[in-house]
Amino acid sequence: MKKIDLHDYVATVKDYPELGISFRDISPLMGSGPAYREAINQIQEFAKDLNVDLIAGPESRGFIVGSPLAYALGVGFVPARKSGKLPRAAVSASYTLEYGGINELEIHQDAIKPGQRILIVDDLLATGGTINATREIIEKLGGVVAGVAFIIELEDLHGREKIMEAGEVPFLALMEY
Ligand code: IMP
Repeated sequence: MKKIDLHDYVATVKDYPELGISFRDISPLMGSGPAYREAINQIQEFAKDLNVDLIAGPESRGFIVGSPLAYALGVGFVPARKSGKLPRAAVSASYTLEYGGINELEIHQDAIKPGQRILIVDDLLATGGTINATREIIEKLGGVVAGVAFIIELEDLHGREKIMEAGEVPFLALMEY
């Protein structure tokens, strides 16, 4: 069987959402059974030595990466939701968006117990704001970030450095642009 090249499943959209920005769209990857499975398998391989108790992912594409991964590993999934959507007591953190503006993420207060090891996942790492906000909440709750994993890393935006400034953690990006 031909080996899957995940790059074949990324659509690049020029000048979206703004002039001069090339948006990387993983919809074709998610829409292909073999490519989606391959991506999740590769992250599962990375996760296997990290002693992970839970997967956390930011709304909304973090759910698409995190849920099948949690299922494959046999651990729970914790959504980091946009503010105002969770029904019970939650802890939040805010961050600046890549294209301007401020966003806030929240996790239920009882979703993570002190000492639990969390792997944070998302579809794409840009400036690192989303992941660092997710991490801030996890650490406020006493969780330990066991690692971070992405399908795509946009290297020029130096998100990886921002993550490591908050503390070194195991890192995986399946593709770099
Ligand atoms: P960051 O917070 O700047 O790292 O931005 C990452 C977040 O924005 C992720 O949740 C992505 O889903 C989204 N994002 C930013 N740029 C892109 C892109 O080019 N394609 C897809 N998602 C993007």
